[in-house]
Amino acid sequence: MNGLNKEEQALLVKIQDQKDEMLQGIFEVVSIPSERQEPADHAPYGKPVKEALDHVMEMAREMGFATKVIEDQVGIVQYGGNIDDCDHYLGIMGHLDVVEAKNQEGWISDPYQPEIRDGKIYARGILDNKGPILSCLYALKALKDLNIEPALPIRILFGTNEETGMEDVPVYLANEAKPAAGFTPDCKYPVVYAERGRALYYIDFDSIQKTIDWVNTYFIANQSKEKAMNLEINDPEFGLLQIRNTKMTEHSVEFAISYPPCITADKILDIIQGIS
Ligand SMILES: [Zn+2]
Repeated sequence: MNGLNKEEQALLVKIQDQKDEMLQGIFEVVSIPSERQEPADHAPYGKPVKEALDHVMEMAREMGFATKVIEDQVGIVQYGGNIDDCDHYLGIMGHLDVVEAKNQEGWISDPYQPEIRDGKIYARGILDNKGPILSCLYALKALKDLNIEPALPIRILFGTNEETGMEDVPVYLANEAKPAAGFTPDCKYPVVYAERGRALYYIDFDSIQKTIDWVNTYFIANQSKEKAMNLEINDPEFGLLQIRNTKMTEHSVEFAISYPPCITADKILDIIQGIS
């Protein structure tokens, strides 16, 4: 283990030692079908989502961590400091809700019965986001078991509404201070340092003819939608602006725009208002 100090070497050994325990824990959590459902008592996003949250909080308490749940929506696991009075901490934000697993997605095993095939785990939510966020929990356990004291308290935040609106985030921020610094493991391996923006736009028209004219001019013209709408934007690092999910009704059109950071949602709105 070249170039690593004693503490770092001990950490790597510890992580290897707890591999089976970590797999067991992750398997338990990916077996819970935490798709959003109708609200139930103390379960604003439905019972399975809350079951996943309760289960992870119990796992963390068994590891010896302080835990707290904000309004049945965001679970906090903390190492260092006082969980009930903590306004300066490192935050690691992830989530325990999953996207609905549909038959037509081509599952060849039950999405809620995890399987290892060719060294990979197959289960709904293993990548997005239960596997990564639980890996952070086991990493925190390794630090704690080795009595490595962090300079700042570390909080792992287990959100439960990432896939259908992130309504849990404002609830958390209304109750707790925001992290001094942090990261989210909710993306692609190994590191992603920025994401593109996404915004939805709606335009209302007072007649069907105006709606049709607009659609003919901008959506089904003899050029790309982006070009027609004066939104042909290419960022050298983040790629092209893209218009997606176009829809029309008698009196409106709507569409989503995925945009690189060289433009903002407000600037895009200015351009759309300029042509409309
Ligand atoms: Zn996610």
